[in-house]
Amino acid sequence: MRTLLADHPLVTHKLTLLRDAGTDTATFRMLADELVTLLAYEATREVRVAEVTVTTPVGTATGAKLVQPSPLIVPVLRAGIGMLDGMTRLLPMASVGFVGMVRDEKSLVASTYANRLPLELSGREVFVLDPMLATGGTLVTVIGMLAERGAGTVTAICLLAAPEGLARVAEAFPEDDVRVVTGAVDERLNDKGYIVPGLGDAGDRLFGEI
Ligand code: URA
Repeated sequence: MRTLLADHPLVTHKLTLLRDAGTDTATFRMLADELVTLLAYEATREVRVAEVTVTTPVGTATGAKLVQPSPLIVPVLRAGIGMLDGMTRLLPMASVGFVGMVRDEKSLVASTYANRLPLELSGREVFVLDPMLATGGTLVTVIGMLAERGAGTVTAICLLAAPEGLARVAEAFPEDDVRVVTGAVDERLNDKGYIVPGLGDAGDRLFGEI
């Protein structure tokens, strides 16, 4: 696994506002959306393109176009939904699949409650959206599901990551075709599996406590 720390000043600025416990839900959603677009710019750096030629009003230009099949975006429910618009803004032609994962608050083990993924992904580029890479259990499960279906490269976009989660994903997927793009790597996890200092429960902050 490769880790890309996108520590651009604008990313850090928006992340700092997100972390602030005083940031309300509406502002949190807007900032998360903007932040994802910035991270997506880094995450799509290696997206597959083919050379094309276009006729401009004054000549011929050689450029690039995304190749088919288009990438697949997979937000991990619930909190990953808050990242979807920011991602599809950059990749409007991408397909979208869904995985729902819920974490047992005692054991911290994540289990799958929804799966709307294509059965066949042979060689496809996949972008997984999950705001918090905490224990890594969710990401290891989702990447495993994608690998079983034959995905090519899998890039996880996480607003924040814990060193424990990064280590777990790296151990499960040592190959270079798995990448994590994150805005910051925080100190550690606490005994409830929350990232410290983190930003709290991303789902609750995006959608309110239910
Ligand atoms: N999930 C969250 O929403 N926040 C954390 O800090 C860890 C997991």
